[in-house]
Amino acid sequence: MLELKNISKTYGQTMALKTIELFIPEGKTTILLGQSGSGKSTLIRIINGLIQPDKGGTVFFEGIPVTPQNALELRHKMGYVIQEGGLFPHLTAYQNVALMAGYLGWPAERIDKRVTELAQLTQLPLDMLSRFPTQLSGGQRQRVSLMRALILDPDLLLLDEPLGALDPMIRSELQNDLKQIFQTLGKTVVLVTHDIGEAGFLGDQIVLLRDGQIVQQGSLPELVHTPADSFVTQFINAQRSPLEALSL
Ligand code: ADP
Ligand code: MG
Repeated sequence: MLELKNISKTYGQTMALKTIELFIPEGKTTILLGQSGSGKSTLIRIINGLIQPDKGGTVFFEGIPVTPQNALELRHKMGYVIQEGGLFPHLTAYQNVALMAGYLGWPAERIDKRVTELAQLTQLPLDMLSRFPTQLSGGQRQRVSLMRALILDPDLLLLDEPLGALDPMIRSELQNDLKQIFQTLGKTVVLVTHDIGEAGFLGDQIVLLRDGQIVQQGSLPELVHTPADSFVTQFINAQRSPLEALSL
């Protein structure tokens, strides 16, 4: 589905990504996990061609190299939810969701049917669709962002910290809903998070990044029981469980 070969990215003096080699299997959820600044967003943007990797690196999407020439077209097959949702504040939820379909000339009836279907999938009450983003809760905004990413029925869904701005109970509810949605759709998903619990809950495989490099790739039990190096264990232990206080 997706193959990254020799991907590096340099911003001036900063090397945000260093020779990443990664295979992303079809129909599974892959988590990009890592601290802030480890290169997760850069990697997502390179996948969908919003930024170019350094010379010598290539992203293959469904076997096709992503280039500046074809990126726009390929992006129709890649739904993208950016950090903080990125909804247009001057458009209603409905208009935000429908934007790309309208741009591609879908008839109003088809758009209506698709938006209703997606509201059901993401459990957004239909009366929310006429609201502007500021009139929605954080969780509802993320449901709308997800609807917008899914409108064209993409083969690949890219989610950059979709739940990062939500408080714990809403976040946990959305995690359950996302898991359900991923199962229903059976799409290839790449989701960025720095939360290891979320990574283990949602991911079929986890790719742990540190300073632009892959430290380990595997399931959560693999990261916990056979860490590739001491950083993996440090990273896992740094996220304290609230229950820990009880065993003191
Ligand atoms: P993450 O999403 O894991 O927090 P990013 O991919 O946003 O990490 O950033 C990786 C590194 O690249 C950081 O050191 C960041 O400061 C740097 N960086 C990201 N975008 C730019 C940019 N447009 N210009 C310069 N440096 C950048
Ligand atoms: Mg980021």
